[in-house]
Amino acid sequence: MKTALLYSEEMKRYDFGPGHPFRGDRHASFMKLLKEKVGTDRGFDLIAPTPADDDQLQLVHSPAYIEFIKKGEWDPWSWKAVEFVAADTPLSPGMDEAARVIVGAGIAAGELVATGRYKAAVSIGGGMHHARPSRGAGFCIYNDVAICVRNLQKKHGIERILILDTDGHAGDGTCEIFYEDPRVLFISLHQDPFTQYPGTGFPRQIGEGAGKGFSVNIPLPPRTAIAPFLYALEEIFCPLAHEFKPEIILRNGGSDPHFDDQLVQLGITVEGFHRIGNTVRETAEAVCDGRIVDMVGSGYNPAVLPYAWLALVCGVSGLAVNLKDPIPLPP
Ligand SMILES: [Zn+2]
Repeated sequence: MKTALLYSEEMKRYDFGPGHPFRGDRHASFMKLLKEKVGTDRGFDLIAPTPADDDQLQLVHSPAYIEFIKKGEWDPWSWKAVEFVAADTPLSPGMDEAARVIVGAGIAAGELVATGRYKAAVSIGGGMHHARPSRGAGFCIYNDVAICVRNLQKKHGIERILILDTDGHAGDGTCEIFYEDPRVLFISLHQDPFTQYPGTGFPRQIGEGAGKGFSVNIPLPPRTAIAPFLYALEEIFCPLAHEFKPEIILRNGGSDPHFDDQLVQLGITVEGFHRIGNTVRETAEAVCDGRIVDMVGSGYNPAVLPYAWLALVCGVSGLAVNLKDPIPLPP
């Protein structure tokens, strides 16, 4: 069975402007490499998402926050901007629409898998895991991960979802949203928050109330390479997945754990990303009949980003691909 690839040219408007590490050319650069290395008719079906509407955003976000983003009148000196959006996430015209397309891609990916039309579906540009119900931060406006999950719970009656966050930064927004929800097992591997944004994601953060024990934060030291990263996956993620028995696994995270990323200091190679994708697919095959929703969005080395995304996506899809690191390995 092919993998669904949710992508739209509209995603390029998700762009924080010159000088910002998150630019809108990332999606097209991935699509170019996909065409070169895999082609568009082998392995993937391209599907254009529709933008999320207010009701869908309200599965996670407050009406006041949605209204603020929709107006797009972002003034870094106003108290409202400080209240609703962190300074690292400067809004610009068109951002609301682009963010809604990304959320729509996540919702569609979830529904295609939940309804059995695809085993795996990938949202290109997704994984906005720092967004909170009433606050955007860390280049994330709407939390498409959480909205996808809430939609699956509400509309499709999915009881157990495992979120695996392999982004180099801790998924603080997603963690907070599901902190008291035992229907969602949230596992995040990330660079030690003492050394990296967002400064949370410590092992003692395990959830609260009914959700106690359903948040698993795994900080990794700077320069952690693929072998210990896979060790953590195999020793923590895999057994927990077998125990929790999710109906769907949602993995999110792009290329920022790469060894040459400009913001994160982890040590994953392009081949390593393929192995991460493989591990997720094999685990999903063992515990939930292979049902995976995948989101690739982050990455702050444009030369590396399409290679790492493609490696992840091919790993998740079980597709062999010949990819070499575009950057020489450090000693
Ligand atoms: Zn990140």
